[in-house]
Amino acid sequence: MKLKHLLSLMFVLMSAVPLFLGLQYLNNHFGKYSREQYVEHLSAMSAIAEQRIQSAIERIRDNSALISSRTQLRLSLDQWTRTGEVRHRAKIAKIIHDAKQGLSHLREIRIYDAAGRLVVSTLEAEPQTAELQTKPEKIEVSLAANDGYTVAISREPLILDHTTVGYVEAQFFADFINALARDRTGLGETGEWLVAVRAENGDALFAVPLKYDSAAAFKRRVSKDRHDVPIIQAMLGNEIVLDHAPDYREEPVLASTRYLPELDWGLVAKVSEAEVNELVTRNQSLIYVAEFVIVLLAIAVGVVLAFYIARPIEKLRAYTALASKGSLEEPHLERAGWKEARDLADHFTFMIKALRELNENLQAQVAERTQALNEANKKLEKLASEDPLTGLYNRRLFDIRLSEEFDRATRYRHDLAAAMLDLDHFKKINDRFGHAAGDEVLSKVGSFLKASARASDVVARVGGEEFCLLLPEGSKSGAMAFLERIRAEIEALQFSTANGQFTVTCSIGLACLDSTTETEQTLIERADVALYQAKKTGRNRIVQSTQKASTVSEFPKTA
Ligand code: GH3
Ligand code: MG
Ligand code: MG
Repeated sequence: MKLKHLLSLMFVLMSAVPLFLGLQYLNNHFGKYSREQYVEHLSAMSAIAEQRIQSAIERIRDNSALISSRTQLRLSLDQWTRTGEVRHRAKIAKIIHDAKQGLSHLREIRIYDAAGRLVVSTLEAEPQTAELQTKPEKIEVSLAANDGYTVAISREPLILDHTTVGYVEAQFFADFINALARDRTGLGETGEWLVAVRAENGDALFAVPLKYDSAAAFKRRVSKDRHDVPIIQAMLGNEIVLDHAPDYREEPVLASTRYLPELDWGLVAKVSEAEVNELVTRNQSLIYVAEFVIVLLAIAVGVVLAFYIARPIEKLRAYTALASKGSLEEPHLERAGWKEARDLADHFTFMIKALRELNENLQAQVAERTQALNEANKKLEKLASEDPLTGLYNRRLFDIRLSEEFDRATRYRHDLAAAMLDLDHFKKINDRFGHAAGDEVLSKVGSFLKASARASDVVARVGGEEFCLLLPEGSKSGAMAFLERIRAEIEALQFSTANGQFTVTCSIGLACLDSTTETEQTLIERADVALYQAKKTGRNRIVQSTQKASTVSEFPKTA
């Protein structure tokens, strides 16, 4: 398979397929969402219609109260009932005629006496005998058909001094209810409003003309036992949304039901399920088209990208194959480009090799120089710290070591002894046996001291024929014993020269660290003072300092 085809396939698998699946999922989700939206819309519509009916009824109640509140009407009715005098009835007729003039949408006002017999009507001057069916205790509003009109009828008692003197019945043209039923805005092609009242046997009786049955008002009924039909659910007082419920024609509908308890009316907003489904699928198919276009675009972009990426690589691969066969001939220009690239690469290889060699040479040279320098440094260091005649530490290094040992001893409260050793009458040895013999003595004594001391001891030549020993951890008695041995062994050393044999002695001053106020200087000074004391008291002996240097005012008299 060619690289461009492989890349295209990979792109389709990695982007277009997940994209397609994702959009599919989104589409399903959107289908459910669309339906939910529609349900919410229908429910909101029915709630608004309920409100509109409620406010229309309120107006009817208000108008009815305008009639019943007239005191003269109630007084005249009471007198008519008591006396049966015609003038009272005429008075009542005048009052209701006047009232009718001031009220719109009013069809008829009727006044009944307390027994429910018709007294007077605005329609007929001499009304036929009629009786009120039910006597209301408070205002009641109902819907009815009258001479082909839908009317809203209000009935209420007329009360005088806590007694019911009669009843008023007002019939209003209920245009509002028909207007509501006619206005199907927002209910789509198949939607409609249903308003029903309760028939005598409890069935739902439609109060408005229906979309698919214009003669239905106050004629068409739905049995109270059909609980699956939305208008019955409404009459049962359930305010719900029903899916796939049969309507009055047994067609499946989506319906939102409402109930008006004070009027005992049912209200339904409904749309055929077929229309809802069509709406949802129409929306979905729009998404399908968008989805298809997006996926197609993704594939196209993928293929173009794959070709774009693959082209130079495939070309290079083809040239490599040709070059390895040695049959690279056409086209000329590209072959020249290929050769240039190869030459350039060769140059680079050569340059890198040269640079690497140069670098290696440099590194070797630097290492060589560093070693030489280190050796020279070591030599210098040795020269700077070593006494050339004896190989012992010189004064400079002695001072450094003294400082270290002093710090350690004071920090850890350890012992530290310092001894100054000076050869006795050395000048005379030089004088008698020559300077070389003197040197020989110094060298031998130096070697002897070094050999006798412990590794941790510091032995230094600090003057012409003066040595200093630092004995860390050396207690007074231990140091004394050690120095005594040194002194005796130096005395026993035999030197022979052309001028004869001789021996040497030495004097030693010892000071041991014994005070917190002591410093390096006072310790050495005290050893020096003790040495001076040893010289003064006869030489070839050891004197130990018994006092701190700072407080010495006089040389000690005893060894
Ligand atoms: P004392 O017992 O009082 O110490 O007497 P001394 O003669 O040893 O002391 P003094 O300080 O009078 O003389 C020290 C001599 O040591 C003087 C010098 O010639 C000699 N001397 C110093 N350094 C060297 C050296 O490196 N080699 C030799 N051969 N002699 C040295
Ligand atoms: Mg001396
Ligand atoms: Mg001396």
